[in-house]
Amino acid sequence: MITATMPTYARIDLAFAKGESVYLFTADGRRYLDFGCGIAVTGLGHCHPHLVHALQEQAGRLWHVSNLYRIPEQERLAERLVAASFADTVFFANSGAEAVECGLKMVRKYHDDTGHPERYRVITFASAFHGRTLATISAGRQPKHIAGFAPLVEGFDQVPFGDLDAVRAAIGRETAAILVEPIIGESGVRPAPAGFLRGLRELADQNGLLLFFDEVQTGFGRTGTLFAYEGEGAAPDVMATAKQIAGGFPMGACLATEKAAVGMVAGAHGSTFGGNPLACAVANAALDVVLEPGFLPHVRAMGAYLRERLEALSRSNSRVIEEVRGRGLMMGVKTRCPNAEMIDALRAHGLITVSAGDNVVRVYPPLIVERPHIDEAMEIFMKACAELGARAG
Ligand SMILES: *Cc1c(COP(=O)(O)O)cnc(C)c1O
Repeated sequence: MITATMPTYARIDLAFAKGESVYLFTADGRRYLDFGCGIAVTGLGHCHPHLVHALQEQAGRLWHVSNLYRIPEQERLAERLVAASFADTVFFANSGAEAVECGLKMVRKYHDDTGHPERYRVITFASAFHGRTLATISAGRQPKHIAGFAPLVEGFDQVPFGDLDAVRAAIGRETAAILVEPIIGESGVRPAPAGFLRGLRELADQNGLLLFFDEVQTGFGRTGTLFAYEGEGAAPDVMATAKQIAGGFPMGACLATEKAAVGMVAGAHGSTFGGNPLACAVANAALDVVLEPGFLPHVRAMGAYLRERLEALSRSNSRVIEEVRGRGLMMGVKTRCPNAEMIDALRAHGLITVSAGDNVVRVYPPLIVERPHIDEAMEIFMKACAELGARAG
Protein backbone atom coordinates (compact mmCIF):
# COMPACT_ATOMS: atom_id res chain seq x y z
CA MET A 1 0.00 0.00 0.00
CA ILE A 2 1.32 3.45 -0.86
CA THR A 3 2.47 5.57 2.05
CA ALA A 4 0.48 8.69 2.86
CA THR A 5 3.56 10.78 2.06
CA MET A 6 4.22 10.07 -1.62
CA PRO A 7 7.19 7.69 -1.67
CA THR A 8 9.49 9.89 -3.77
CA TYR A 9 12.31 9.87 -1.19
CA ALA A 10 14.50 7.01 0.09
CA ARG A 11 14.20 8.19 3.67
CA ILE A 12 16.53 7.29 6.53
CA ASP A 13 14.57 5.85 9.48
CA LEU A 14 15.34 8.71 11.82
CA ALA A 15 13.30 11.73 12.90
CA PHE A 16 14.44 14.84 14.69
CA ALA A 17 12.36 16.69 17.23
CA LYS A 18 14.49 19.72 17.93
CA GLY A 19 17.37 21.72 16.50
CA GLU A 20 19.70 24.05 18.33
CA SER A 21 22.66 25.76 16.68
CA VAL A 22 24.91 23.02 15.21
CA TYR A 23 23.00 20.15 16.83
CA LEU A 24 19.87 18.11 16.09
CA PHE A 25 18.05 16.08 18.74
CA THR A 26 15.69 13.11 18.49
CA ALA A 27 12.59 12.91 20.68
CA ASP A 28 14.40 10.43 22.94
CA GLY A 29 17.27 12.86 23.41
CA ARG A 30 19.97 11.51 21.09
CA ARG A 31 22.20 14.34 19.84
CA TYR A 32 23.64 14.68 16.33
CA LEU A 33 26.19 17.17 15.04
CA ASP A 34 24.62 18.53 11.85
CA PHE A 35 27.20 18.87 9.07
CA GLY A 36 24.56 18.60 6.35
CA CYS A 37 22.31 21.57 7.18
CA GLY A 38 19.38 19.86 5.46
CA ILE A 39 21.09 20.02 2.12
CA ALA A 40 23.00 23.29 2.52
CA VAL A 41 19.93 25.11 3.82
CA THR A 42 20.21 25.81 7.56
CA GLY A 43 23.48 27.66 7.07
CA LEU A 44 23.08 29.69 10.25
CA GLY A 45 22.39 26.60 12.36
CA HIS A 46 19.06 25.61 13.82
CA CYS A 47 16.78 28.19 15.44
CA HIS A 48 19.25 31.07 15.27
CA PRO A 49 17.86 33.58 17.83
CA HIS A 50 17.97 36.51 15.39
CA LEU A 51 15.97 34.54 12.79
CA VAL A 52 13.51 33.19 15.37
CA HIS A 53 12.91 36.71 16.61
CA ALA A 54 12.37 38.08 13.11
CA LEU A 55 9.98 35.23 12.24
CA GLN A 56 7.95 35.59 15.44
CA GLU A 57 7.78 39.36 15.21
CA GLN A 58 6.60 39.25 11.59
CA ALA A 59 4.23 36.33 12.26
CA GLY A 60 2.37 38.42 14.79
CA ARG A 61 2.09 41.37 12.41
CA LEU A 62 1.54 40.28 8.77
CA TRP A 63 2.25 37.03 6.91
CA HIS A 64 1.06 37.52 3.41
CA VAL A 65 -0.15 40.10 0.98
CA SER A 66 -0.13 39.58 -2.74
CA ASN A 67 2.39 41.05 -5.12
CA LEU A 68 -0.46 43.25 -6.29
CA TYR A 69 0.74 45.54 -3.48
CA ARG A 70 4.05 47.01 -2.42
CA ILE A 71 5.85 44.82 0.11
CA PRO A 72 8.36 46.94 2.08
CA GLU A 73 10.22 43.89 3.48
CA GLN A 74 10.67 42.62 -0.09
CA GLU A 75 11.86 45.99 -1.37
CA ARG A 76 14.40 46.19 1.43
CA LEU A 77 15.69 42.66 0.77
CA ALA A 78 15.99 43.33 -2.97
CA GLU A 79 17.86 46.60 -2.38
CA ARG A 80 20.29 44.86 -0.05
CA LEU A 81 20.92 42.01 -2.50
CA VAL A 82 21.46 44.51 -5.31
CA ALA A 83 23.93 46.46 -3.14
CA ALA A 84 25.81 43.26 -2.26
CA SER A 85 26.04 41.72 -5.74
CA PHE A 86 26.44 42.26 -9.49
CA ALA A 87 22.66 42.58 -9.85
CA ASP A 88 20.36 45.55 -10.47
CA THR A 89 17.08 43.75 -9.81
CA VAL A 90 15.65 40.66 -8.05
CA PHE A 91 12.62 38.38 -8.53
CA PHE A 92 11.57 36.36 -5.47
CA ALA A 93 10.33 32.79 -5.70
CA ASN A 94 9.91 29.93 -3.23
CA SER A 95 12.59 27.44 -4.24
CA GLY A 96 15.76 26.90 -6.22
CA ALA A 97 14.02 25.34 -9.21
CA GLU A 98 11.65 28.28 -9.44
CA ALA A 99 14.55 30.72 -9.30
CA VAL A 100 16.27 28.86 -12.16
CA GLU A 101 12.98 28.72 -14.08
CA CYS A 102 12.68 32.51 -13.79
CA GLY A 103 16.19 32.88 -15.20
CA LEU A 104 15.47 30.50 -18.09
CA LYS A 105 12.36 32.48 -19.02
CA MET A 106 14.33 35.73 -18.64
CA VAL A 107 17.10 34.75 -21.09
CA ARG A 108 14.54 33.81 -23.75
CA LYS A 109 12.62 37.04 -23.18
CA TYR A 110 15.81 39.13 -23.36
CA HIS A 111 16.64 37.93 -26.85
CA ASP A 112 13.02 38.16 -27.97
CA ASP A 113 12.86 41.75 -26.76
CA THR A 114 16.17 42.70 -28.36
CA GLY A 115 15.30 41.49 -31.85
CA HIS A 116 16.56 37.89 -31.72
CA PRO A 117 13.56 35.63 -31.11
CA GLU A 118 15.54 32.81 -32.76
CA ARG A 119 17.91 32.78 -29.79
CA TYR A 120 16.33 30.48 -27.24
CA ARG A 121 18.79 27.63 -26.67
CA VAL A 122 20.77 27.34 -23.44
CA ILE A 123 24.11 25.56 -23.08
CA THR A 124 24.27 23.47 -19.90
CA PHE A 125 26.78 20.99 -18.47
CA ALA A 126 26.91 17.25 -17.95
CA SER A 127 26.06 16.27 -14.34
CA ALA A 128 24.48 19.66 -13.69
CA PHE A 129 21.57 19.92 -11.27
CA HIS A 130 19.12 22.79 -11.56
CA GLY A 131 15.97 21.42 -9.90
CA ARG A 132 13.05 19.06 -10.53
CA THR A 133 10.59 21.02 -12.68
CA LEU A 134 10.25 20.00 -16.31
CA ALA A 135 12.45 22.84 -17.57
CA THR A 136 15.12 22.32 -14.91
CA ILE A 137 15.36 18.52 -15.39
CA SER A 138 15.61 19.22 -19.11
CA ALA A 139 18.50 21.60 -18.38
CA GLY A 140 20.29 19.11 -16.13
CA ARG A 141 19.35 16.12 -18.29
CA GLN A 142 20.52 13.54 -15.78
CA PRO A 143 19.23 10.08 -16.74
CA LYS A 144 17.91 9.36 -13.23
CA HIS A 145 15.91 12.61 -13.23
CA ILE A 146 14.45 12.51 -16.76
CA ALA A 147 13.55 8.79 -17.07
CA GLY A 148 9.82 8.50 -17.74
CA PHE A 149 9.19 12.23 -18.03
CA ALA A 150 9.48 12.73 -21.79
CA PRO A 151 8.97 14.88 -23.74
CA LEU A 152 11.46 17.23 -22.16
CA VAL A 153 11.48 20.98 -22.60
CA GLU A 154 13.24 21.76 -25.85
CA GLY A 155 16.27 24.02 -26.16
CA PHE A 156 19.15 22.73 -24.07
CA ASP A 157 22.57 21.70 -25.39
CA GLN A 158 24.78 19.86 -22.95
CA VAL A 159 28.58 19.80 -22.97
CA PRO A 160 31.23 18.48 -20.53
CA PHE A 161 31.82 20.62 -17.40
CA GLY A 162 35.07 22.56 -17.59
CA ASP A 163 35.51 22.21 -21.36
CA LEU A 164 35.67 25.69 -22.95
CA ASP A 165 36.34 24.28 -26.43
CA ALA A 166 33.16 22.21 -26.21
CA VAL A 167 31.20 25.32 -25.19
CA ARG A 168 32.67 27.27 -28.11
CA ALA A 169 31.72 24.49 -30.50
CA ALA A 170 28.16 24.31 -29.12
CA ILE A 171 27.41 28.02 -29.64
CA GLY A 172 25.14 28.53 -32.64
CA ARG A 173 22.83 31.20 -34.07
CA GLU A 174 20.04 30.02 -31.74
CA THR A 175 22.10 30.10 -28.54
CA ALA A 176 20.73 32.47 -25.89
CA ALA A 177 22.71 31.75 -22.75
CA ILE A 178 25.12 29.54 -20.81
CA LEU A 179 23.85 28.10 -17.50
CA VAL A 180 26.41 26.76 -15.02
CA GLU A 181 26.93 25.93 -11.34
CA PRO A 182 30.19 27.63 -10.22
CA ILE A 183 30.74 24.54 -8.07
CA ILE A 184 28.78 21.45 -9.12
CA GLY A 185 26.92 20.48 -5.95
CA GLU A 186 24.55 17.50 -6.20
CA SER A 187 26.86 15.68 -8.59
CA GLY A 188 29.83 15.59 -6.27
CA VAL A 189 31.15 19.00 -5.09
CA ARG A 190 33.27 19.75 -8.16
CA PRO A 191 34.63 23.31 -8.38
CA ALA A 192 34.96 24.73 -11.89
CA PRO A 193 38.55 24.48 -13.14
CA ALA A 194 40.61 27.67 -12.71
CA GLY A 195 39.68 30.25 -15.33
CA PHE A 196 36.63 28.33 -16.60
CA LEU A 197 34.01 30.83 -15.47
CA ARG A 198 36.12 33.72 -16.77
CA GLY A 199 36.36 31.86 -20.09
CA LEU A 200 32.57 31.49 -20.17
CA ARG A 201 32.22 35.22 -19.50
CA GLU A 202 34.45 35.97 -22.51
CA LEU A 203 32.57 33.54 -24.76
CA ALA A 204 29.25 35.03 -23.68
CA ASP A 205 30.47 38.57 -24.40
CA GLN A 206 31.96 37.65 -27.78
CA ASN A 207 28.74 35.95 -28.89
CA GLY A 208 26.05 38.20 -27.38
CA LEU A 209 24.92 35.51 -24.91
CA LEU A 210 23.77 35.90 -21.32
CA LEU A 211 25.80 34.18 -18.62
CA PHE A 212 23.56 32.51 -16.02
CA PHE A 213 24.99 31.14 -12.76
CA ASP A 214 23.10 28.67 -10.61
CA GLU A 215 24.17 29.61 -7.07
CA VAL A 216 21.27 27.86 -5.39
CA GLN A 217 23.70 25.73 -3.37
CA THR A 218 26.82 27.95 -3.35
CA GLY A 219 25.13 31.21 -2.33
CA PHE A 220 24.98 33.10 0.95
CA GLY A 221 28.45 32.43 2.24
CA ARG A 222 28.70 28.66 1.84
CA THR A 223 31.98 28.97 -0.10
CA GLY A 224 33.45 31.80 2.03
CA THR A 225 32.23 34.73 -0.07
CA LEU A 226 28.61 35.92 -0.25
CA PHE A 227 28.40 34.32 -3.70
CA ALA A 228 30.87 31.86 -5.22
CA TYR A 229 31.37 33.93 -8.40
CA GLU A 230 33.15 36.62 -6.37
CA GLY A 231 36.31 34.55 -6.22
CA GLU A 232 36.30 33.97 -9.98
CA GLY A 233 36.73 37.37 -11.59
CA ALA A 234 33.60 36.72 -13.63
CA ALA A 235 30.15 38.04 -12.78
CA PRO A 236 26.99 36.65 -14.40
CA ASP A 237 24.11 38.51 -16.07
CA VAL A 238 21.55 36.30 -14.33
CA MET A 239 21.85 34.28 -11.12
CA ALA A 240 19.51 31.90 -9.30
CA THR A 241 19.92 31.36 -5.58
CA ALA A 242 17.89 29.77 -2.80
CA LYS A 243 18.80 27.14 -0.17
CA GLN A 244 20.53 29.24 2.52
CA ILE A 245 18.83 32.50 1.60
CA ALA A 246 16.42 32.48 4.56
CA GLY A 247 18.11 29.93 6.82
CA GLY A 248 15.49 27.24 6.23
CA PHE A 249 12.40 29.28 5.46
CA PRO A 250 11.43 28.42 1.85
CA MET A 251 12.58 31.09 -0.58
CA GLY A 252 14.37 31.47 -3.90
CA ALA A 253 15.60 34.50 -5.80
CA CYS A 254 16.61 35.28 -9.35
CA LEU A 255 19.02 38.20 -9.60
CA ALA A 256 19.81 40.00 -12.85
CA THR A 257 21.39 43.00 -14.43
CA GLU A 258 19.12 45.70 -15.78
CA LYS A 259 20.15 44.68 -19.29
CA ALA A 260 19.24 41.00 -18.84
CA ALA A 261 15.91 41.84 -17.22
CA VAL A 262 14.80 44.16 -20.03
CA GLY A 263 11.80 41.94 -20.84
CA MET A 264 10.67 41.35 -17.25
CA VAL A 265 7.93 43.95 -17.33
CA ALA A 266 4.60 43.91 -15.48
CA GLY A 267 2.78 40.68 -16.31
CA ALA A 268 5.82 38.84 -17.73
CA HIS A 269 6.28 36.57 -14.71
CA GLY A 270 4.79 36.07 -11.28
CA SER A 271 4.32 34.01 -8.14
CA THR A 272 1.59 33.90 -5.51
CA PHE A 273 3.85 33.31 -2.54
CA GLY A 274 7.20 34.63 -3.82
CA GLY A 275 8.65 37.36 -1.66
CA ASN A 276 5.85 37.55 0.89
CA PRO A 277 6.42 39.54 4.09
CA LEU A 278 7.10 36.50 6.28
CA ALA A 279 9.76 34.99 3.99
CA CYS A 280 11.38 38.38 3.41
CA ALA A 281 11.51 39.20 7.12
CA VAL A 282 13.42 35.97 7.76
CA ALA A 283 15.68 36.44 4.73
CA ASN A 284 16.50 40.00 5.85
CA ALA A 285 17.41 38.65 9.29
CA ALA A 286 19.60 35.93 7.72
CA LEU A 287 21.30 38.59 5.61
CA ASP A 288 21.94 40.69 8.76
CA VAL A 289 23.98 37.79 10.12
CA VAL A 290 25.84 36.92 6.92
CA LEU A 291 26.77 40.55 6.19
CA GLU A 292 27.97 41.27 9.73
CA PRO A 293 31.65 42.31 9.57
CA GLY A 294 33.79 39.31 10.38
CA PHE A 295 31.17 36.69 9.45
CA LEU A 296 32.52 35.71 6.02
CA PRO A 297 36.14 35.82 7.24
CA HIS A 298 35.00 33.38 9.96
CA VAL A 299 33.58 31.07 7.27
CA ARG A 300 36.89 31.22 5.39
CA ALA A 301 38.88 30.50 8.55
CA MET A 302 36.66 27.55 9.48
CA GLY A 303 36.76 26.34 5.87
CA ALA A 304 40.57 26.39 5.88
CA TYR A 305 40.64 24.50 9.18
CA LEU A 306 38.10 21.91 8.01
CA ARG A 307 40.05 21.36 4.78
CA GLU A 308 43.34 20.96 6.65
CA ARG A 309 41.78 18.39 9.00
CA LEU A 310 40.02 16.48 6.19
CA GLU A 311 43.20 16.40 4.10
CA ALA A 312 45.20 15.04 7.03
CA LEU A 313 42.48 12.43 7.60
CA SER A 314 42.58 11.52 3.92
CA ARG A 315 46.39 11.09 3.98
CA SER A 316 46.27 8.75 6.94
CA ASN A 317 43.24 6.81 5.61
CA SER A 318 44.03 6.55 1.91
CA ARG A 319 42.40 3.10 1.76
CA VAL A 320 39.05 4.68 2.63
CA ILE A 321 39.29 8.23 1.26
CA GLU A 322 40.27 9.02 -2.30
CA GLU A 323 40.05 12.80 -2.40
CA VAL A 324 38.95 15.93 -0.53
CA ARG A 325 37.65 18.88 -2.56
CA GLY A 326 35.48 21.98 -2.39
CA ARG A 327 35.72 25.54 -1.17
CA GLY A 328 34.95 27.27 2.10
CA LEU A 329 32.50 25.17 4.10
CA MET A 330 31.29 23.39 0.95
CA MET A 331 33.48 20.31 1.18
CA GLY A 332 33.25 16.92 -0.49
CA VAL A 333 35.00 13.73 0.59
CA LYS A 334 35.22 11.13 -2.17
CA THR A 335 35.36 7.70 -0.57
CA ARG A 336 36.67 4.40 -1.91
CA CYS A 337 33.92 2.48 -0.14
CA PRO A 338 30.33 3.25 -1.16
CA ASN A 339 29.66 6.77 0.17
CA ALA A 340 26.46 5.52 1.86
CA GLU A 341 28.56 3.24 4.09
CA MET A 342 30.61 6.21 5.26
CA ILE A 343 27.51 8.34 5.82
CA ASP A 344 25.85 5.52 7.82
CA ALA A 345 28.99 5.01 9.92
CA LEU A 346 29.27 8.76 10.64
CA ARG A 347 25.60 8.93 11.58
CA ALA A 348 25.93 5.92 13.88
CA HIS A 349 28.51 7.98 15.78
CA GLY A 350 26.35 11.10 15.81
CA LEU A 351 27.48 13.10 12.75
CA ILE A 352 25.08 14.05 9.96
CA THR A 353 26.48 14.45 6.43
CA VAL A 354 24.83 14.23 2.98
CA SER A 355 25.58 12.09 -0.06
CA ALA A 356 26.37 13.51 -3.48
CA GLY A 357 27.08 11.99 -6.89
CA ASP A 358 30.52 10.63 -7.80
CA ASN A 359 30.59 8.68 -4.50
CA VAL A 360 31.07 11.83 -2.45
CA VAL A 361 30.13 12.62 1.16
CA ARG A 362 29.15 16.26 1.48
CA VAL A 363 30.52 17.93 4.60
CA TYR A 364 28.52 21.15 4.94
CA PRO A 365 28.72 22.48 8.50
CA PRO A 366 26.61 25.48 9.47
CA LEU A 367 28.58 28.66 8.80
CA ILE A 368 28.46 29.48 12.52
CA VAL A 369 30.57 26.40 13.26
CA GLU A 370 33.53 26.76 15.68
CA ARG A 371 36.79 24.80 15.86
CA PRO A 372 35.62 22.48 18.68
CA HIS A 373 32.68 21.34 16.51
CA ILE A 374 35.05 20.56 13.66
CA ASP A 375 37.29 18.70 16.12
CA GLU A 376 34.25 16.74 17.32
CA ALA A 377 33.33 15.87 13.72
CA MET A 378 36.89 14.79 12.95
CA GLU A 379 36.94 12.44 15.97
CA ILE A 380 33.85 10.78 14.47
CA PHE A 381 35.42 10.69 11.00
CA MET A 382 38.48 8.95 12.48
CA LYS A 383 36.30 6.29 14.13
CA ALA A 384 34.34 5.74 10.92
CA CYS A 385 37.52 5.49 8.84
CA ALA A 386 38.99 2.96 11.27
CA GLU A 387 35.85 0.80 11.04
CA LEU A 388 35.58 1.04 7.26
CA GLY A 389 39.34 0.53 6.81
CA ALA A 390 39.18 -2.63 8.93
CA ARG A 391 36.25 -3.88 6.84
CA ALA A 392 38.20 -3.15 3.63
CA GLY A 393 40.90 -5.47 5.01
C1 LIG B 1 19.08 22.34 -4.71
C2 LIG B 1 19.44 22.93 -6.02
C3 LIG B 1 18.45 23.34 -6.95
C4 LIG B 1 16.98 23.11 -6.72
O1 LIG B 1 16.50 23.77 -5.60
P1 LIG B 1 15.03 23.39 -5.01
O2 LIG B 1 14.83 24.38 -3.91
O3 LIG B 1 15.11 21.97 -4.55
O4 LIG B 1 14.08 23.54 -6.12
C5 LIG B 1 18.87 23.95 -8.11
N1 LIG B 1 20.17 24.13 -8.38
C6 LIG B 1 21.14 23.74 -7.53
C7 LIG B 1 22.56 24.00 -7.88
C8 LIG B 1 20.82 23.12 -6.33
O5 LIG B 1 21.77 22.72 -5.49
